[in-house]
Amino acid sequence: MDDRCIAAISTAAGTGGVAIIRISGSGALGVAEKVFSPACGRKVSELKPRYMYAGGIAAAGGITDFGLCVYFRAPRSFTGEDVVELHCHGGAELSRAVLKKVLQSGARAAGAGEFTMRAFLNGKLSLSAAEGLADMINGRSSAEVRAGSLLYAGRLTQKAAEIQAELKDVLAKIGADVDYPEEDIERTELADIAERLAALEDGINALVATYDGGKKIKNGVAVAICGKPNAGKSSLLNALLGYDKAIVSSAAGTTRDVVEGELELHGVRFDLYDTAGIREGAGEAEKMGIARARQALASADVVLIVYEGEFGEEEKELAAACSCPVIKVRNKRDVDDSAGGDEDIFLSALSGEGVDGLKKLLAETALPPGALDGAFVIEERHYDALNRAAASLHAARVSAGTMPADIVSVDIRGAWDALGEITGETATEEIIDTIFSKFCVGK
Ligand code: GDP
Repeated sequence: MDDRCIAAISTAAGTGGVAIIRISGSGALGVAEKVFSPACGRKVSELKPRYMYAGGIAAAGGITDFGLCVYFRAPRSFTGEDVVELHCHGGAELSRAVLKKVLQSGARAAGAGEFTMRAFLNGKLSLSAAEGLADMINGRSSAEVRAGSLLYAGRLTQKAAEIQAELKDVLAKIGADVDYPEEDIERTELADIAERLAALEDGINALVATYDGGKKIKNGVAVAICGKPNAGKSSLLNALLGYDKAIVSSAAGTTRDVVEGELELHGVRFDLYDTAGIREGAGEAEKMGIARARQALASADVVLIVYEGEFGEEEKELAAACSCPVIKVRNKRDVDDSAGGDEDIFLSALSGEGVDGLKKLLAETALPPGALDGAFVIEERHYDALNRAAASLHAARVSAGTMPADIVSVDIRGAWDALGEITGETATEEIIDTIFSKFCVGK
């Protein structure tokens, strides 16, 4: 790795009140010395760490801005290295000129996520905490940001590390048996080990089970709205969104494409897909829309089947073709409020009556109970590692007592390694690179 001092603009691109240029590495102070002139007359190297100082900030092109500088001495900084931050005025051109001056003064431009990668390599945060940070920064819904913040706070790492510590302890016990085969482990101890492994396996499986909710929090819940032409699908989409997104028309086949809209319920993003009415005798363009509607149906987490009057044969066929939960939405209550249908919800997309009830039902259907509280797994990578850890522990538990201890210990080590991919101890360089590429430059 190129361990020269790195620098980047850490604030978002564009015009704002303040822009921050961050410099990290052992040469950070030397670089800052050439760029920043403290108003108090001291040299940058004489500044007290973690204090803000006002002064002149030199920019390329002979310009001088007036701003602030703060120095974090290694290892007490985000990256664990010496870090200097220059806070200049937030003009896009101005901050670029300050960065240019910093680069001319000996730093090199940081790559995407390089500050965070250095923090990880210096032991300032675990790999899953870094992923949580990426989720917080890139999160598109408040639930995703919250889930990211839990990851960042180290909830999952802590759990994984606790299980790893127990596994180490079990390994040490078994190790005694491997080293001194004549001193057989007591039967009761073996039973105890199998029991401990079972408890750990249960703990991992409980985490694995949270992924169903976690995945929805991260990726959003895909909701397909389908039904016969003119049932009111587009009107329902508009009513759910609270604004007119889809074209509403009484001519059958108006919605030829899959319209997307975003709705946030309990902080979770719901992606709504208004599908073309699936019907016979459609024209070419509409046929394409229908093909896409089928795709939306296949990848949906929840399907709303909109109809008026009775849930008929075509609706039943549609429901039978769905592999996810279906909500039967009986529409046009304002013109026909006769009771007796087998709907899940009866509403009027036109007047809005019952639409809030549908939102509530949608959230209850899509989000497993308890999905929004406590720690949960949101990253597929963690889900995969936890599944492998559980499988290895299962194998170890089954073979404990019947197989030689060294074979059991191979499976236990397998589980330890899989968990290490979460904490970062056993993650490959490829995994690490992929994770840090999710960050922007400057983080
Ligand atoms: P789609 O083909 O299923 O997308 O149906 P649209 O949303 O385009 O609606 C078809 C027609 O039914 C339009 O004339 C809408 O105004 C009307 N419509 C939709 N929902 C309601 C409703 O709740 N009540 C009444 N009275 N008309 C509705």
